[in-house]
Order: sequence, then C-alpha cells, then structure tokens
Amino acid sequence: MKRIGILTSGGDAPGMNAAIRAVVRSGIYNDMEVYGIRRGYAGLINGDFVKMDLGSVGDIIHRGGTILRTARSEEFKTPEGMEKALKNIEALGLEGLVVIGGDGSFRGAIELSKRGVATIGIPGTIDNDIPFTDYSIGFDTAVNTVVEAVNKIRDTATSHERTFIIEVMGRESGNLALYSGVACGAETILVPEMPFTIKDVCEKIMSGFRRGKLHSIIILAEGAGQGFDVGREIKNITGFETRIIVLGHLQRGGTPTAFDRILASQMGGKAVELLKSGVSNKMVGWVKGELLVTDLEQILTTNKPFNMELYELANILSI
Ligand code: ADP
Repeated sequence: MKRIGILTSGGDAPGMNAAIRAVVRSGIYNDMEVYGIRRGYAGLINGDFVKMDLGSVGDIIHRGGTILRTARSEEFKTPEGMEKALKNIEALGLEGLVVIGGDGSFRGAIELSKRGVATIGIPGTIDNDIPFTDYSIGFDTAVNTVVEAVNKIRDTATSHERTFIIEVMGRESGNLALYSGVACGAETILVPEMPFTIKDVCEKIMSGFRRGKLHSIIILAEGAGQGFDVGREIKNITGFETRIIVLGHLQRGGTPTAFDRILASQMGGKAVELLKSGVSNKMVGWVKGELLVTDLEQILTTNKPFNMELYELANILSI
C-alpha cells in the first residue's frame, strides 16, 4: 500500500491530533504517502485533501480538537455523495483510509470498504460508547475535565451547604457520568442505563442531611434527564437550594491527558500496520492493556456493556 488517507469525523475528541500524528508518521516511516482529508466525509466528497509530511503533524500532540477539522455529512449517506467520494479517492489513488470517529463514522467506513477502499477505524469519542475497546480516545481527558470542574464546584457546595447537579455529556451513554462520578466521590450518579426516581434521589439527599451532611453532588448524564428539571423537582420535594451546572462543550476540548496521547499513538501506529498488511474493515481497540482488532460490523451490532460493577460500587461508596 503506497498511498493512504486519514480523516476525523463526527464529534471531536481530545487526542485525535495525537492519532493523526501517529498515522502520518508511521505511514511515512513505512514508505507510504499520507493524505489528510479535511472535514471528514464532506472533505472526501469535495476533494479537500492535503498531503501530510513529517512536519505537518509537529507540535500537535498536546492539542485538543483536530487539525483536520471534523464535520457531519448527510450527503455522504446518499448514493450521489458516495459516488463523488469514490471518484476523488480513485483520482488521488488512495488505497487505504483511516477513520477516526464514533459509530456513525464507522458506518461510513464500512460502506467504503464494501466498495474496495481498505478502511481502518479508530474510536475517538468522549462518550466511550464503542464496544470492543475499554477506552475511546478523548474519554480519559473528558473525565478529568469533569473532575476538575467538580473539584471547584465542591468548594462552594461545601461552603454554602448546597446541592449541586452537574450535567455532563452522554445522550445514550452514562460512561462519562459514571467514571467522573466515581472519581469525584459524587453522592448520586444518574445515567440513562439505570432507571431512577426523583423520590429515591431525594431520599438519599435527606439521609445525608440526617447524618449531618449539608451538601450533595449529583452527576447527571444529559440522557438521563435535564439538569434544570431534576433540580426543580429536588427543591420542591426537599426544600434544599439546588444549583445546576451544565458543563456542555467544555468537556470536548482541552489538552489531552497522557493516557489519551499514548492510546491514540498506539492506535494510530496499529492502524497503519494493519493497512500495510492488507487488512480492511476493522477497528483498533484497546482491551485489558492490549490492542485488539475487531470487525467494524461487529462494532455496530454490539452494545457496549454498562459497567454495572463500577456503578454498584459507586452506590456503596456514596452511602
Ligand atoms: P460519530 O462518528 O461521532 O458517531 P455521526 O453519527 O454524526 O458521528 O457520523 C459521522 C458521519 O459519518 C456522518 O455525518 C456521515 O457522513 C457518516 N455516516 C454515518 N452513518 C452513515 C451511513 N449509514 N452510511 C454512510 N455514512 C454514514
């Protein structure tokens, strides 16, 4: 394989740049030409390609976001969009493509591989909702971002003896809420995977109150409810002042943690190795400390299991 492309697609995640750097440098090391495709699949359709050299990925390992930009492209899902993308791929002579993104992006990668373009997926999303990998790129950084924010909020929560609800990202996945909640020592963690009643949440706050605890931190995944609604209901039932913080896009940015940089570097290096040896339609994951290669189709047909053990432990530790 002599010429490969790389793109980032879907939501950005810290560490994507470290993965781009790894793909570009490993590719060049293996005598390949590497092209960056700007704005994900939209760039494939528009022929927005840039040849990458060793220096083009210098000074980016510590930066959040993605130097290649990212986008969502509805056109790519249409036969006409796909046709345009394939024409550009052929015109440039790209034989392989590394796709960094989430499951939507992997659907696109599968479609390309069906049409003869060798594709390798790298999981990049702060949601950590991709199966067959313990971590996706960006998750660890996002957890640390939430923890830092909660550290600051906790000072006020303690001083003013208030209940704080911190709404974090995760429409369908409570992973970010769960992991950051455990790391913050949150009193309550609310996730879409586990049904809850406001009555139970209030009872927990009240039982803390009875043993002299006058503040409470609730981490709420956005998919489990709206912070302002939950806050209003808690105030109505308990009478406690409740403050709501929606962390929003703060969680997507920032310098990647060392963990994310190392993970991204390993995954990027492996993606190139796989393309070099003729492998296609796979995702590089990381399970129990080792890289794991899985069929992209299997990624899309499997749900990532929710970490029940950690959830139950969080409940025990927050009594
Ligand atoms: P993520 O990769 O973070 O899950 P999206 O779900 O928004 O993000 O998907 C990113 C892009 O992947 C979409 O904008 C689209 O261009 C492409 N994509 C998603 N689903 C398909 C599909 N079924 N066929 C082709 N391309 C797809």
